[in-house]
Amino acid sequence: MNYRHAFHAGNFADCMKHALLVALIHRLCAKDTPFRVLDTHAGIGTYDLTASEAERTGEWKRGVGRLLDITEGPLAPWLDLIRRAGFPPHYPGSPALVRMMLRPRDRLVLCELHEDDSAALRTLFRGDPQTAVHKRDAWEALSALTPFAEKRGLVLVDPPFEVEGEFGRMAEAISVVAHRFRAGVQAHWYPVKHRAPVRAFHTALADGGVRDIVACEFWLREPTDPQRLNGCGLVVVNPPWKFEEEARAILAALLTHLGEGEPGQGFAVTRIAEE
Ligand code: SAM
Repeated sequence: MNYRHAFHAGNFADCMKHALLVALIHRLCAKDTPFRVLDTHAGIGTYDLTASEAERTGEWKRGVGRLLDITEGPLAPWLDLIRRAGFPPHYPGSPALVRMMLRPRDRLVLCELHEDDSAALRTLFRGDPQTAVHKRDAWEALSALTPFAEKRGLVLVDPPFEVEGEFGRMAEAISVVAHRFRAGVQAHWYPVKHRAPVRAFHTALADGGVRDIVACEFWLREPTDPQRLNGCGLVVVNPPWKFEEEARAILAALLTHLGEGEPGQGFAVTRIAEE
């Protein structure tokens, strides 16, 4: 396990994932009944952008660093939250963001397999009765920890994609969770380096029998160089009502601020499987 999210926190891919995540949680908050969130690849929870890892890559400067002054529009709900969390220089990852949005009866379950990162996560949430931290394999946790007692909620799957076969594993996980927890919302993040593996992933999902799937994608440039993170995607199963519209507005705003005018930049929210 070589991947450490501290090098990448706040980059364009985090902006996309976290702005959409906040939109999904807002929609879960629309009903009074409690929900649970399972974040299977949690990282360390929150990041210091002045730390040496973030300084070394400087990725956040071309990501969230360009959004500092925005207070209105589709990105504002997420940006207001991160400012409340101390941005800059503190940048809340998915666990800290979700935790800020929970009501008193909602729950957060975090899995992180890396020794040091799971220890950091445990320290961050020590004494929090609404948050459970597991040093546990994400893929195994998806079966072990679903469905939720609350009968509603979100499963966030955000792997580092550092090993072969991650797209296949993700397609399988989507099917497993859909069968165990039919009403659950699922959000799975993936990199877009070049088109072929993404196309194959979408085809596997379309043919896999799980209903009601949309793919949100954001590209900084034509995805033709397999060595570069040219874009990223978030597949959402059981998207809440009106989420697709909101996702389009969020991605359009991100493109306005993060796009560098390269050929092939853009975004799309497309249906992979009908309801
Ligand atoms: N979701 C986080 C956020 O948005 O703030 C970032 C997560 S980062 C992209 C992926 C994390 O997954 C890393 O911290 C890595 O250590 C962890 N990881 C990798 N393989 C794992 C596995 N099989 N089970 C649990 N965690 C894993």
